[in-house]
Amino acid sequence: MTDLNVQFVCPDCDHSFSLSTQEILESDTLSCPSCGCPLSEDELKHLKIAINYSQEKNTH
Ligand SMILES: [Zn+2]
Repeated sequence: MTDLNVQFVCPDCDHSFSLSTQEILESDTLSCPSCGCPLSEDELKHLKIAINYSQEKNTH
């Protein structure tokens, strides 16, 4: 399984950070490590769908 990093920029404090796709899939919520500003549930949901889709494509 490919383990890629996804880059985020916090909308609140402009801190940039990256998380592995594995971490994202295992998380129910994501938040900025600097200020704790959470990523919206919708955004996280779409992100997981996109990751699952690309990983499925890679294994076929
Ligand atoms: Zn932040």
